[in-house]
Amino acid sequence: LLEVQGLQKSFGERLVLNGIDLQVVKGEVTVILGPSGCGKSTLLRCLNGLEPVQGGRISYSGQDLAGPQVNWREVRQRIGMVFQNYELFPHMTVLDNILLGPLKVQKREPKEARQQAEQLLDRVGLLDRKDAYPRQLSGGQKQRIAIVRALCMNPEIMLFDEVTASLDPEMVREVLDVILGLAEQGMTMIIVTHEMGFAKSVGDRIVFMDQGSICEIAEPQQFFTQPATERAQHFLDIFQ
Ligand code: ATP
Ligand code: MG
Repeated sequence: LLEVQGLQKSFGERLVLNGIDLQVVKGEVTVILGPSGCGKSTLLRCLNGLEPVQGGRISYSGQDLAGPQVNWREVRQRIGMVFQNYELFPHMTVLDNILLGPLKVQKREPKEARQQAEQLLDRVGLLDRKDAYPRQLSGGQKQRIAIVRALCMNPEIMLFDEVTASLDPEMVREVLDVILGLAEQGMTMIIVTHEMGFAKSVGDRIVFMDQGSICEIAEPQQFFTQPATERAQHFLDIFQ
């Protein structure tokens, strides 16, 4: 579905992604792990056109996203992304936040889009909060709304960048459960997380990065019990 080859990204003189090769298969969950600053967020941002790249290829449904003249507006409807800091619009209700993309960008029929939004809200247990404003919600609730907002565009792939990192511990579970539910339904996802237990249970593959490169790609069982590289072992020693 998505294939990255030799991807390079620099900020000024600094090379932060140094030849990334990665394949994402439809229906699979890829979890990206690695120390702080290794380039995980930058990689996701490149896949979604939020960062221009300096080399390599990103082929997505026959299109090269690393090339010129990509219609990002169109691509972003198919590759949804949720960040660490849920960026909901504070002056809009939950439902209006969710419907903004489907109505304004996708020009969908309001009644149908609203039905889908309500269904999705129900699925994450927040239908009764549809008329609330973001400030009236907890962090975990806001993050579940941010996920619904991305899902309501009917994306083919979802990218998650440390979506639980700024949540209080008791809210982490409710957000991770939503993502686990998506995995069960066969959603294709790329997930950056520091929650090792979650990575193990949700991931079909673990991609371990260090210093702008992929060091290791393995099945979770293999990675967490017998990582192939010393760097991965060292990383696991710190986190577990
Ligand atoms: P973390 O686990 O802390 O989120 P990360 O793996 O997501 O780390 P990135 O945010 O991708 O790391 O950053 C990779 C490197 O690129 C870091 O050294 C960072 O300082 C640098 N970097 C990221 N964004 C920018 C930017 N906009 N301008 C300059 N350098 C940047
Ligand atoms: Mg990051």
